[in-house]
Amino acid sequence: MTFHPDILCPFCGLGCGDIGIDLDDSGIAPRPSGCPQADRLFRRSAAVPTDARMSGTAVSMDDAIAEAARLLAESHAPLIAGLATDVDGVLSALTLAERIGATVDHERSDALFRNLAALRRFGWSTTTLAELRNRCDLVLVVGPDPAAAFPRLWERWVVPEPAFVPDGARSVVFLGGEPLPETAQLLGGQIETVDPGARDLAMLVTGLRTALAGRAAAGDPMTELAARLRAARYTVVIWAAGLFQGPQPDMIVEGLVRLIRTVDGTTRCSGLPLSGADNLIGANQACGWRTGFPLRTGFDAGLPLHDPERFDWRRRLQDADVTLWISAFRPEMPEFSTNGTVIILAPPEMTITPEPALFIPVGTPGIDHAGDVFRADSVVALHAGMLIDRGLPSVAGVIGRILAALDQTAKVKETAGC
Ligand code: SF4
Repeated sequence: MTFHPDILCPFCGLGCGDIGIDLDDSGIAPRPSGCPQADRLFRRSAAVPTDARMSGTAVSMDDAIAEAARLLAESHAPLIAGLATDVDGVLSALTLAERIGATVDHERSDALFRNLAALRRFGWSTTTLAELRNRCDLVLVVGPDPAAAFPRLWERWVVPEPAFVPDGARSVVFLGGEPLPETAQLLGGQIETVDPGARDLAMLVTGLRTALAGRAAAGDPMTELAARLRAARYTVVIWAAGLFQGPQPDMIVEGLVRLIRTVDGTTRCSGLPLSGADNLIGANQACGWRTGFPLRTGFDAGLPLHDPERFDWRRRLQDADVTLWISAFRPEMPEFSTNGTVIILAPPEMTITPEPALFIPVGTPGIDHAGDVFRADSVVALHAGMLIDRGLPSVAGVIGRILAALDQTAKVKETAGC
């Protein structure tokens, strides 16, 4: 058995680089990391089926590539979604989308667009995980505990003593949400809660903004919190918009953006909007580099067009006659229904009922092949190495072969004068 220390974890977007992995003939297994996602997703068997499947029947990779190219070439309204892959995989998917006139979106883009809606309207002031760890003396957590989606957030970025806070002390205040038991255990006496019932998060944020403006009613508990924000040296306001419940979650984000701007006028205050599992941020960055637009961009008019409503993958599913679903990080996918044909690129561990028209097994970035992923705070691209060779291609490799097959078909048609 070989032990690999300090392996980068590519899953939730926090970019923990301290995972210990045991490798032997049976596969890889993580040493307990304190993270349920890493402990589950790093466990992979060496012996997995590497055959592609067509309606459940094993076929060669050559046949699967040819069939994928045929289906996508004949499609009138293709959709490329899921998009959970490394940066190279996303760039390949964008090339394919441009070629066939497809729409592209990431499975988890809801959380991203809740934030982008506010960013578009007002701009914002955000910070990084490193600033959170080293400079912040007051953490304001708005809504549900982000550790539900980013399990080691507190351990990695808040428990360590801040390097640049004079006495090293900091407080963590939960507004409208409660710490998970693991968070409470880690942060202990640092935690305070304000209205953990979260009756209406938007109203709580509005109440705090009213208090900051000096217009709160006498005895309003927000008055004290507003005073603390004003007195802190550096407040970081953290939220995970993907965890917000209820209508118009983007309005909560808008309230936070305005609140941060108010406090930042007299002392330092920044936001840390967390969204980014399965390289969501990298997919959005790559889409921006290639098209000038964020995700939810379509190429059906021959040029990239962006529409956050129309090109939401859940909406496009209704019209898509072929959906190429990409899920390279985890062997699971959301439930969805479509009348069109479905092609899935995913790890071989994924079990799907009913079987799609085509299933092509792919490796996971950071496990079966090297790949780049973006951290959830958008500022760092991380390179994840390869751990095990199971003969699984990357998403970029598979899509590259599909593109080559499309080229070949086009040449044959050209030669035949079609
Ligand atoms: S917190 Fe995120 S990056 Fe860290 S080990 Fe867990 S899944 Fe991986």
